[in-house]
Amino acid sequence: MAKKTADVVVIGGGPAGAVSAFMLARQGHSVVLLERDEFPRFHIGESLLPYMMGLFDRIGLREALESQGYVPKFGGEFIDPTETKFFSGVFRADFSLQGEGRFDRAFQVERARFDAMVVEEAAKVGAEIHLGTPVKDLVLDGERITGVTYEQDGEEHRIDASYVIDASGRAGRIANKFGLRKTLEKLRMVGVFRHYAGLDERHNLGAEGDIQVGAHDDGWVWAIPISKDVISVGTVMPRDVFRKSTPEAVFDEHLNRVPRITARLTGTTPAMDLKIETDYCYHADTVTGPGWVMVGDAGCFGDPMFSGGVLVATATAARAAETIGAALDDPADADRLIEEYANYFKTGYDTYIRLIHAFYDGELVSVAADAGRTTSREALERYLIRLIGGDFWSEHNAVAQEMRRRPEWDTFAPFQRVFGCPAYPQFDEQDRKERAEARILRVTSGQ
Ligand SMILES: Cc1cc2nc3c(=O)[nH]c(=O)nc-3n(C[C@H](O)[C@H](O)[C@H](O)COP(=O)(O)OP(=O)(O)OC[C@H]3O[C@@H](n4cnc5c(N)ncnc54)[C@H](O)[C@@H]3O)c2cc1C
Repeated sequence: MAKKTADVVVIGGGPAGAVSAFMLARQGHSVVLLERDEFPRFHIGESLLPYMMGLFDRIGLREALESQGYVPKFGGEFIDPTETKFFSGVFRADFSLQGEGRFDRAFQVERARFDAMVVEEAAKVGAEIHLGTPVKDLVLDGERITGVTYEQDGEEHRIDASYVIDASGRAGRIANKFGLRKTLEKLRMVGVFRHYAGLDERHNLGAEGDIQVGAHDDGWVWAIPISKDVISVGTVMPRDVFRKSTPEAVFDEHLNRVPRITARLTGTTPAMDLKIETDYCYHADTVTGPGWVMVGDAGCFGDPMFSGGVLVATATAARAAETIGAALDDPADADRLIEEYANYFKTGYDTYIRLIHAFYDGELVSVAADAGRTTSREALERYLIRLIGGDFWSEHNAVAQEMRRRPEWDTFAPFQRVFGCPAYPQFDEQDRKERAEARILRVTSGQ
């Protein structure tokens, strides 16, 4: 068996794996990324959040992202005829209302192109990328993972590394090997979706480029324009609802419940067969171990509501790369650094999944109202839009603080939160002051 070595081996070339490889290679470490599929390939997860812009700006990938001609997304339209799940019948999260210094847009992307782009950027800075190369097994020395075996051109190879980053997404190479994955029983959703061609945004009753999310009694429907003339449409529902009908019938029925989305589809035709995604609601309480870390979906995913998956995946990947870079430079401090990373991972996913629970439990409006008791009305709107935009790691977001008070929305076993915004770390201190001022304004103005 041919054998080689590297500082770090990354399993999986989705956004999380590619960002880790990009950052470690740029730090000057030797990185080998092994991706099972040939690229470009289809992947779901097409709507990005504005906090991704801050993150990609900080780590040096924003220019590449902006050069692709993706559809700009300036907001999210949340449709709720019952007015119980969102803040009005049609509520628009306008990203320009996040406050000073934050990017006011994100992008809708075709993942086949987006994922290939990030992997190419990693290759440009020196990461060794192997596509069409599945990882077969983990190599262990006692309790430590010291490498992986993989298949290439029909032959088995082995690579030894100081660290293994598991970015294998739902395949969860390490979680499955060690039996670490736990289903989020309260969610257990199913997604059914397809692309439509012939989009003409003049039929959009809202703002061009926005994602639309339409809530109804059995779940919700998304519409995401991924290019000038193609739109992705999906319906998400509990497993029991899915099992009662056929995918085609349930898709049509749910879509027809959201007339603002069917209006946007005027003149379009299906561009692919329906696709189905299941078993994506899970977490692990152990996300690191001797010689390894999980990043992104390999460790946790909740639900596509609020489109946070790629952000939490890439933000944890960036933090993992910083952590492993520091651990390679100072091995004596490695255990502490990696434990801190595990808590950072959980802090962001925990916040994102609380937002999801707040929606499904019909508590979003009441949580915002509770947060409003300790902050001015203007600041409350800012906190809410920021949270919807991806503000999952800030200690001082008033709405996130309120959600963290709810034990029924805990995902992980008790852990020590590690805050620190991956997109705008420069504002952490300013955020603390802003929160204190908003609290005082609320008291003195008697709003
Ligand atoms: C229905 C649905 C809708 C969604 N919509 C959105 C959205 O609008 N916006 C958003 O941000 N997120 C969305 N998501 C979530 C998003 O898809 C994921 O969070 C995101 O892709 C995670 O990135 P990742 O790099 O961690 O994993 P992935 O993107 O899944 O990448 C993992 C990679 O690992 C590779 N791999 C697996 N096993 C092996 C192996 N043994 N060897 C080598 N390689 C391997 C896979 O081929 C894959 O390329 C959605 C998810 C679902 C289920």
